[in-house]
Amino acid sequence: MKKVLTVCPYCASGCKLNLVVENNKIIRAEGANGVTNQGELCLKGYYGWDFLNDTKILTPRLTQPLIRRQKGGEFEAATWDEAIEYVSSRLAKIKAEEGPDAIMLTGSSRGPGNETNYVMQKFARGVVGTNNIDCCARVCHGPSVASLQMTLGNGAMSNSINDIENTKCILVFGYNAADSHPIVARRILKAKENGAKIIVCDPRYIETARIADLWLPLKNGSNMALANAFLNVLINEDLYNKEYVERYTEGFDDMKAVIDKYTPEYVEEITGLKAKDIRDAMQMYASAPSATILWGMGVTQWGQSVDVIKGLSSMALVTGNLGRPGVGVGPVRGQNNVQGACDMGATPKDYPGYQKVADPKVREKFAKAWGVTSLPDNPGATITEVPHRILEGKIKAYYVMGEDPLQTDPDLSLMREALSKLDLLVVQDIFMTKTASVADVILPATSWGEHEGIYSSADRGFQHFEKAIEPTGDVKVDWEIISLMSTALGYPMKYKNTKEIWDEMRVLCDLYAGATYEKMAGLGYVQWPCPTEDHPGTPYLYKGNKFDRPNGKGLLASADWIPPKEQINEEYPMVLCTVREVGHYSCRSMTGNCRPLQTLADEPGYVQINPFDAERLGIKDQALVWVESRRGKVITRANVTPRANKGAVYMTYQWWIGACNELTLDHLDPISRTPEYKHSAVKVYSI
Ligand code: SF4
Repeated sequence: MKKVLTVCPYCASGCKLNLVVENNKIIRAEGANGVTNQGELCLKGYYGWDFLNDTKILTPRLTQPLIRRQKGGEFEAATWDEAIEYVSSRLAKIKAEEGPDAIMLTGSSRGPGNETNYVMQKFARGVVGTNNIDCCARVCHGPSVASLQMTLGNGAMSNSINDIENTKCILVFGYNAADSHPIVARRILKAKENGAKIIVCDPRYIETARIADLWLPLKNGSNMALANAFLNVLINEDLYNKEYVERYTEGFDDMKAVIDKYTPEYVEEITGLKAKDIRDAMQMYASAPSATILWGMGVTQWGQSVDVIKGLSSMALVTGNLGRPGVGVGPVRGQNNVQGACDMGATPKDYPGYQKVADPKVREKFAKAWGVTSLPDNPGATITEVPHRILEGKIKAYYVMGEDPLQTDPDLSLMREALSKLDLLVVQDIFMTKTASVADVILPATSWGEHEGIYSSADRGFQHFEKAIEPTGDVKVDWEIISLMSTALGYPMKYKNTKEIWDEMRVLCDLYAGATYEKMAGLGYVQWPCPTEDHPGTPYLYKGNKFDRPNGKGLLASADWIPPKEQINEEYPMVLCTVREVGHYSCRSMTGNCRPLQTLADEPGYVQINPFDAERLGIKDQALVWVESRRGKVITRANVTPRANKGAVYMTYQWWIGACNELTLDHLDPISRTPEYKHSAVKVYSI
């Protein structure tokens, strides 16, 4: 029996745990004393390893390469040589005939780790010759990255997860911590126990609302109006820090011109909130000696998400709640390594370390290091633009690594149609996901637990995870598969291990240059920026109120409220908002194959509906119902609960039967290209 120290593969809380292993099987998981979890785990950490034992609960693991040589034909087993030759020759042909931008690739925010994301973006840019590389940050915290880079200079949490309990006021905006990051929820609870005031802005009565000093149940789709009203109260009722604003910020007059009309009384109709409650919230926030804003998908998955985050960032700036412990802005990233996929440049506009594709000096540096003559300068496609680009004939090949767009992306009927038009769909994964089931080629990879590497948690913390067991079947580590593909395309990649990849990356990124494997050994935790090997890492950003913008000042900004794209009407009278289920994660391919988690919550999922609406519609609790939008309909189970507000229903996106993304709209934020998952018009009726 042995204990192997690793990092949980589900949410980005970055919990360290020990896998107890006997005869190459996992026996149990134990919480380790990691910086963010301090020995605690949630139930996914305790039970989310079961799939590694190949228990074949729902979906067998992929164990050998598969090729579908004819559209509509069956998969055939293949050797690795055959699969690499098949994919590389097809990619070469598409590149020669259609150009490199006819090929789209993804990084993975899940099991593979940072080194694999580095290798994948190098393969995309240096070998294929395209910036068409993206990851699921696009459907998650892409708006936080884009917005905070503009206002503060870095698109990440300013402070640390373990710093949350030191703050004296937490504004929780569109963030259901208990279901999405239970260990962060524990930090919020500890802050409360330490005397912090808690303000929750959410249409639903989420778990955190139960401990809130003030719960603001705003109407679905009114985030921007509320953020502007918050700023209006702070500025026009003299609750802001004038000296801080004058010394450390710019853009005050432009921001004020936008927010001036958003008085609490003006937004009462838009938000459904009482003006007094909005004022009370800002009294609480501004009067606290230290205050933190945490947000999640309830802020980011909107057509106006980048603007809302500018507003939240401006609230922190005008009250001086940045640049010291116990304060800050906290976009709490979703998947375990979604921060890492962005850190490593698996996005269309950034190289690793957030160095810009558009900067010729950056391109020159990477071209020289990689030994290629040039690198593409045009920004690549985002994953949310892929279906449209396929249907327009611009993308012909899609190489999907460790993601399942046919489960997680909006408007699945559109996605299905688009994928069917591809010349080549390659899926590199561990399970036969929905996307894998329609692929032309499947490349079976090792899972978390079967390889090592580095993950980045939501607060910029690099941690090492170890290999626990030997994989079964003819599978390969993700970065090895990409290296073989690259070599077959004429650019030999001969990495021996993840450390070699990491060290190549460090040399190219000042932000991470001092984050060595040695520092991350055991329980080591290194938060970027970490520019030199004697640097301890950075628990909080913007020390001395110096912002990472050209003039060192934080940018104050906001925007007028824009109503949600798809409005309810007589035919589709309710709002569908997608949410989280604590027992499962993401597309559910891993948690859905863990027996304890399956027992906790199983298909066909559920739709949360308010008792008033349920009675009006003749729907009983636990009854099977249809939920239908303009794009499709699904069957699911009614969960009649007063936690849902009147006029809205809530579904999680994990379920394969009752997949709510059959219903969602692919309206995108104009800057981040993130979909408006939180507001689709639907009708609900009994079967
Ligand atoms: Fe920690 Fe998140 Fe894993 Fe739960 S799912 S153990 S909160 S990292």
